[in-house]
Amino acid sequence: MTATDTGASTSATATSAGSEEDLLARVSAPQGQGRQIREPATGAVLGAAPVHSKQDLDAAVAAARAAQPAWAASGHEQRSQVLLRMADRIDALAEPLARLLAREQGKPLNGPNARFEVGACSAWLRATAATTLEPQVVVDDGATRAELTYRPVGVVGAIGPWNWPLMITIWQVAPALRMGNAVVVKPSEYTPLSVLALISILNEELPEGVLSAVSGEGEVGARLASHPDVDKVMFTGSTATGRRIIESSAGNLARLTLELGGNDAGIVLPDADPQAIADGLFWGAFINTGQTCAALKRLYVHDSLYEEVVDALADVARAMPMGASLDETSVLGPLQNKQQFDVVARLVEDAKQRGGRIVTGGQPATELGELFFPVTLIADLKDGDPLVDEEQFGPALPIIRYSEIDDAVASANRLEAGLGASVWSADPAAARAVAERIQAGTVWINSHGGVHPMVPFGGVKGSGYGLEFGVEGLKAVAAPQVISAASPTIAPTA
Ligand code: NDP
Repeated sequence: MTATDTGASTSATATSAGSEEDLLARVSAPQGQGRQIREPATGAVLGAAPVHSKQDLDAAVAAARAAQPAWAASGHEQRSQVLLRMADRIDALAEPLARLLAREQGKPLNGPNARFEVGACSAWLRATAATTLEPQVVVDDGATRAELTYRPVGVVGAIGPWNWPLMITIWQVAPALRMGNAVVVKPSEYTPLSVLALISILNEELPEGVLSAVSGEGEVGARLASHPDVDKVMFTGSTATGRRIIESSAGNLARLTLELGGNDAGIVLPDADPQAIADGLFWGAFINTGQTCAALKRLYVHDSLYEEVVDALADVARAMPMGASLDETSVLGPLQNKQQFDVVARLVEDAKQRGGRIVTGGQPATELGELFFPVTLIADLKDGDPLVDEEQFGPALPIIRYSEIDDAVASANRLEAGLGASVWSADPAAARAVAERIQAGTVWINSHGGVHPMVPFGGVKGSGYGLEFGVEGLKAVAAPQVISAASPTIAPTA
């Protein structure tokens, strides 16, 4: 099967009617073929994803290359209109898409989960449609008028993860299309069906070849990143894969945006109100059951209010229902895959051995299913413990005590990761002074992890480089060009 045989890229003829089963039928491999995808919450087989080859990928890149000039020539206004219509298409199929996402990724329908994620997709498309990147006059001194303009880069490879598969795909695709690029998407092998369904819906508004998806294992992603005809790679995933993509960019000179996850610190200052911040701390850490790149992953609390914060957080945690993805009462779900479950289980077990105090959770919730791990708050850990130092990417939060703010800042900055961080305080000026000392792409004050389509987002240090969202996000998928005009009345200098 070729990439262009799938609903992902031939869906210009597909209809918008249907349930999640209709969406599945659009994108699944033919009967008896493909790779089985199981639902994390139940272990049941959801469907079979097409497995594309490197030749399929080459065909998708060639189709993108061929389609891109006409798409670029269609102009900003027309492309914005297309993005708006895509958003309408998603809204029309929001419920089946959310149900498919919930079943494949594992996240519940409610809370900041599947329905929220689908809603974010259309919201991001609309915001991207409304964002403009104007040419900038950088010199106009009578002798020269130099203007900085932005052209499409050409073909963009978009490689995404399994935690927020639809939203992150839109984060990559929307600005790239908006700027006149063609895009080839490579979804994670854990969540291909929902991404293929999304691409299928988007393709109802696009000319053939402009957007396609190639589903396969890491080697297809590696081929996409190193492809000689790919001009830009947008990648969200692990640091190890990010390093490989940097290496392959030495071959094709592709521009890169790398979002490589984090190990975000939160610092609670002595003047914070534990009750007032408990809910924000909880969702900062446990959104998407902790499987979020910019989630709060280690919490530093001042000695003077340590126990109060632990207790307030535990009260919130105990009230949050975890359960099956399609259960309307769940707001926390399973881990998405066994590999991630094993990481969380190992780190929690290790933390117990090191004397960590289990406040909630601590053992797999086998009564719910094979991949469920309850919200686990672990007090009395310290820097150097693996649960503090490694990205757990799951529902386990180490809470660390500090006495001096300088020590807390040093702790926040001591790891390689630098995606996000947060400071919690009743005094905005004091919080801001601490925020300025933290090495992270974003520092939130009295919240953690919120993103906005107009606010640039990206990491520093080991969390990668490049900005997404807003005007900066458009620049990241554009090739700058300077048009420099000499005044016809002034002779050029030698
Ligand atoms: P990976 O980096 O392995 O996968 C991310 C994407 O890259 C997937 O689509 C994957 O495809 C693809 N890929 C794999 N190998 C290559 C390659 N050589 N070249 C190009 N693309 C490739 O992350 P995992 O899903 O394995 O997750 C591992 C860890 O990464 C997690 O434990 C977590 O810590 C972190 N992570 C961070 C995320 C974030 O938001 N920043 C999101 C997800 C994970 P395929 O799935 O087919 O292998």
